[in-house]
Amino acid sequence: MDDIFEAKVQEQVRRLQGTRLRAVEREVALKRIAWMRERLGRLRGPRPHSPAEAYELLLFAYLGLHPREAPIVREDPSGIEWTSLNACPTLEACQRLCLDTRHVCREAYERSTQAFISQINPQLRFYRSYSQIRPFASGCREGIFVLEFTAMLAAAHEAATAEEDRRSKARGAVLVLGSHVVGRARQASHSNDPTLHAEMAAIRQAAGTVGVRGLCGGVLFVTSRPCGACLSHAALSGLTTIVYDAPDETRLSTPTIDGSLLAVGALSSFEGWFEVLRAGT
Ligand SMILES: [Zn+2]
Repeated sequence: MDDIFEAKVQEQVRRLQGTRLRAVEREVALKRIAWMRERLGRLRGPRPHSPAEAYELLLFAYLGLHPREAPIVREDPSGIEWTSLNACPTLEACQRLCLDTRHVCREAYERSTQAFISQINPQLRFYRSYSQIRPFASGCREGIFVLEFTAMLAAAHEAATAEEDRRSKARGAVLVLGSHVVGRARQASHSNDPTLHAEMAAIRQAAGTVGVRGLCGGVLFVTSRPCGACLSHAALSGLTTIVYDAPDETRLSTPTIDGSLLAVGALSSFEGWFEVLRAGT
């Protein structure tokens, strides 16, 4: 083990001992966002947009790995998967501190990696397998895939329409994990329950299916701008992103995703990274 790697491990040991994981996530996310924005700002040609381009930027340009340290196991235009085999300071630090990488890497390094990739294109989604992660497996299986926001917003609009009355349009939400819809709900305007928002109902339904911890990295699609309470619940549930439809706000002729980092200070008990995206369709 060389001195540079050992210094990184010791720095990571100090960080994991002295800082809450959500604060680590926020620190890492902001650093990665700044790096990527500077990089994209200097690009003269077309912006990178494919999963393979995002993979190269993340692993080779940013993390400084060699291709043999992250061999590709699957690649097509819709996504790319690889196995990380690099010497990892977080893995080593977790082993020295008897911490579980399935917890630490999910809480501190999954959404912050999505934050990096969202700067390229928020429709590119990062995922990591927590059944194939070191030290429980010989390598960490990770990937980047394309999630078609327009199709998912259409699913939210579909959820908003009551099956018993196709003319009755309400508010709709779908919660997506990976590329699977795990929560779907509508909120009728005539409901007597003021807490029964479509977003919260979709989160509740998804949590009942996959468990609250399993919601990490999820994306919530909503037919219109969510309220502050729903933003808070989404962020605290571990979701990464809310995409809401706002055709009247934007009046754009083509589908556009306008990304922005939520002012997380507004969520007093939340320190991590979370994004709210407005789509004009
Ligand atoms: Zn709400």
